[in-house]
Amino acid sequence: MIAQLNLNTRQTYQPFYDRLAAGWCVPPNTAPNVGDLRNRIAQRVSKPGCSKFISDLINGTATATNPAEFTDALKGFNEIASSSQKGVVYGDTIMNTYGFAGGTIRGSIGTHTAQIELSTPYPTPVGLSRQGLAQYMNDQANIRAGVALHETLHLAGKYGYSDYAYAKTVAAMQGVKPPNFTDIRQASDYWNKALDAACNH
Ligand SMILES: [Zn+2]
Repeated sequence: MIAQLNLNTRQTYQPFYDRLAAGWCVPPNTAPNVGDLRNRIAQRVSKPGCSKFISDLINGTATATNPAEFTDALKGFNEIASSSQKGVVYGDTIMNTYGFAGGTIRGSIGTHTAQIELSTPYPTPVGLSRQGLAQYMNDQANIRAGVALHETLHLAGKYGYSDYAYAKTVAAMQGVKPPNFTDIRQASDYWNKALDAACNH
């Protein structure tokens, strides 16, 4: 699970969201662009240190009773997005459960039910310049790719790996004591920060 819209993005586009609330909007696409997500994930994992971070993270979290299905994030994403799993969809599970937009997962690779849910996009703002709109679309696509990568890694475990499990592994990888997380979002943000540092630079 991960919160999808970061604070900077929200502040940058707040005036446009306010106009959306007033009914000025263009409806978003109803299904994620899997090819675009794949390209952006491929770009991230090709960055120095990223694929090693991910395989260390997965191997450090795997156990005898909950082994890893994959340690290569792009292979994992491709499997989940394939017709032998349940693919990548938009939905509002996190919004409805926690009150903020975010991604989540369902099912598992082994049972051919693995699915990534990305939060339903905000309607595309109107009133942006052509360049501003292109920047907005690119920013949103990057955020979605980051969420898709994060959620892919949850599905790396035969029975899934939780935000708490990954947060604990990241602390061990960094040689620090894991903080006491009061909720799942803190644990999610904690390991996602390390993922971003390794893969989104
Ligand atoms: Zn998560």
